Amino acid sequence: LPELPEVETTRRGIAPHIIGQTVRKVIIRNGNLRWPVPLHLDQTLQNHAVFTIDRRGKYILVRFEHGTLILHLGMSGSLRVMFDATAPLKHDHVDFEFTGNRLLRYHDPRRFGSILWTSDNPYQHKLLADLGPEPLQPDFNGDHLFHASRGRTQAVKTFIMDSHVVVGVGNIYASEALFAGGIRPQALAGKVSRDRYWKLAAAIRSILNKAISKGGTTLRDFTNSDGKPGYFQQKLNVYGRDQLPCRKCKQPIQLLVIGQRASYFCRHCQR
Ligand SMILES: [Zn+2]
Repeated sequence: LPELPEVETTRRGIAPHIIGQTVRKVIIRNGNLRWPVPLHLDQTLQNHAVFTIDRRGKYILVRFEHGTLILHLGMSGSLRVMFDATAPLKHDHVDFEFTGNRLLRYHDPRRFGSILWTSDNPYQHKLLADLGPEPLQPDFNGDHLFHASRGRTQAVKTFIMDSHVVVGVGNIYASEALFAGGIRPQALAGKVSRDRYWKLAAAIRSILNKAISKGGTTLRDFTNSDGKPGYFQQKLNVYGRDQLPCRKCKQPIQLLVIGQRASYFCRHCQR
């Protein structure tokens, strides 16, 4: 499942090859994604150049002077740049062809991703307008988590995975950040102190940054013509380690289902 670090790595991987390039043609083989891919894209984008590629949460924003493509990778989507187009494989649903034989190809076996167009401010689009702060930006910090959590009776893990609170903290990263912050995932969000939220915010930032810098080593895969980009796995401290010894204290890691999501923690290191 592409999480924020994979999406950011994708953005960094494709940007240098696509920015400044002019679209020649858009080919939609199967536009039946989470929402229908707009059929006018070929007409809308032809002869227009990409001026930059941004990211907001897990959305990649490919920006043109007259509008923005809003891409989401869903459960299984990937993008890759090709310099000599090979025949499309199954699940290669959309191609953006640029002048000079350059191609951006969207692949998505499960088709939960999306490709949308807006000619308005993309940050005001209904999918993006209500998103919480970016975890790597300065407005995300312990005070933000502390204030947003007052009066909330849900588990702190569920709270930090809410994209209205902060974007991009998926299930794996939430478990890992709570371990690093020494907080039990089932603790009530509204009862966690300001100091502990500062520690947790720092842990979230550090874990996401680590994953992104790991992703840097896979950038070449985004221009690999014979496969989809391989996502990276970092060393995990608790996630998926039920009953295995904690890397800090050697006590067995516990598995607990919170909000229907598998949650892992150390009873000794997290209080
Ligand atoms: Zn431990």
